[in-house]
Amino acid sequence: MSLSMVTAKSLLLLVFIFCAGAGAGAGAGAGAPDFPSTSDEESQIERFQQYLRIRTAHPYPDYAGAVSFLSAQARSIGLETLTLEFTPGKPLLLLSWYGSDLSLPSLLLNSHLDSVPAEPSHWIHPPFSAHRDPEGRIYARGAQDDKSIAIQYLEALRHLKARGFSPLRSIHVSFVPDEEIGGADGHAKFVASEQFRRLNIGFVLDEGQASPTDELRVFYADRLPFSLIVNAVGSPGHGSKMYDGSAVENLMECAEAVARFRDSQFDLVKAGIMAGFEVISVNTVYMKAGTPAPTGFVMNLQASEAEMGFDVRLPPTEDIDVLRKRIQEEWAPISRNMTYQLIQKGPTRDINGRPLVTATNESNPWWSVFEQAISVAGGKLEKPEILSSTTDARYLRQMGIPALGFSPMVNTPILLHDHNEFLKDTVFLNGIKIYENLISALSSFQSESILEEIHLEL
Ligand SMILES: [Zn+2]
Repeated sequence: MSLSMVTAKSLLLLVFIFCAGAGAGAGAGAGAPDFPSTSDEESQIERFQQYLRIRTAHPYPDYAGAVSFLSAQARSIGLETLTLEFTPGKPLLLLSWYGSDLSLPSLLLNSHLDSVPAEPSHWIHPPFSAHRDPEGRIYARGAQDDKSIAIQYLEALRHLKARGFSPLRSIHVSFVPDEEIGGADGHAKFVASEQFRRLNIGFVLDEGQASPTDELRVFYADRLPFSLIVNAVGSPGHGSKMYDGSAVENLMECAEAVARFRDSQFDLVKAGIMAGFEVISVNTVYMKAGTPAPTGFVMNLQASEAEMGFDVRLPPTEDIDVLRKRIQEEWAPISRNMTYQLIQKGPTRDINGRPLVTATNESNPWWSVFEQAISVAGGKLEKPEILSSTTDARYLRQMGIPALGFSPMVNTPILLHDHNEFLKDTVFLNGIKIYENLISALSSFQSESILEEIHLEL
């Protein structure tokens, strides 16, 4: 440790001591204080660091270690624990705090156990060290995505228990495996299970994303992900010959048609007419053509086959048949010797055939309670957004259950899946207070009749 670090730490300690009295009584405002101040808060940060140190990154996430740690925390709070295993070696931990009226639909707080891998050589602190620098930044893979919310849920529940809170509706917390690899063995199996049905979930909070401003972000839908593979065939020929309809020439037509469409969508975003999440994105992810040779490719032969792959993302309200028609007629017409596969990666409609969207207006009473609880906590909300990527919330929306993506991280750069992912201690602590407000409001919410109507509609 360098001398300057010692000095910085000593100063920090002095500020802790100085602020201890003021911080203890601080309200639940979204504007985070400069320094954590109480021993209670220091313990919360330590538990966050402990969880961050469990190596949950793919390809070999330590699910057993994570579940064991979280179960011990849940027991210390007084929550019921149940470990489910829909796929061997991939446990799902479910915590429950039963409400006084078991007939009411319950609240589910969801978080995934796994993380994406990290490349330690690109990090300023080792990605599983949970190093906290003098400015309070806690560096770790998963600090934002999404181990922060896991501990924030638990700490909020710990506080609610400690202050004698008694929920009207049951509160469940799920820690699920495999979100980062699509959730097929995780949440997809959970929502299809009898155990899930019995929970009678009415509303879900799942992960969101950091906000670089002082406004909290909330997500009401995920874009729908597809893989598009276009195959072209054509007559092979000598490299010197000019002729129509070679495989690569056919595929270039496809590439040009896709590029024109992509430009039309991107122009709308660049002109500020639409947000990035409101348009269809198409990006080329691979091109495959040519005849391999020991030193590279055969250079005097025009290949008879060529292939391109695209990542396609649709807003959830978009009609997939319209996209299919465009592919058949413009991008990969059979008349030009092209075929295609449009591979759906997850649900596209809910069990009632409706788009996977959670209403963020008065038609959804949970939204009103959510919005009000944020405001009571002193938080400001940005306009609700569609998440560009995907989360497990899509499986819950698939069941017709309203679900919002929300991770309370204001004034924080978006570093999920990036090098040097971090979360500031004060932002982490403030998130606990926001969840305390949210959980107490959402689990005390009484308007049974409105909710029953929603469920009847389903
Ligand atoms: Zn995540």
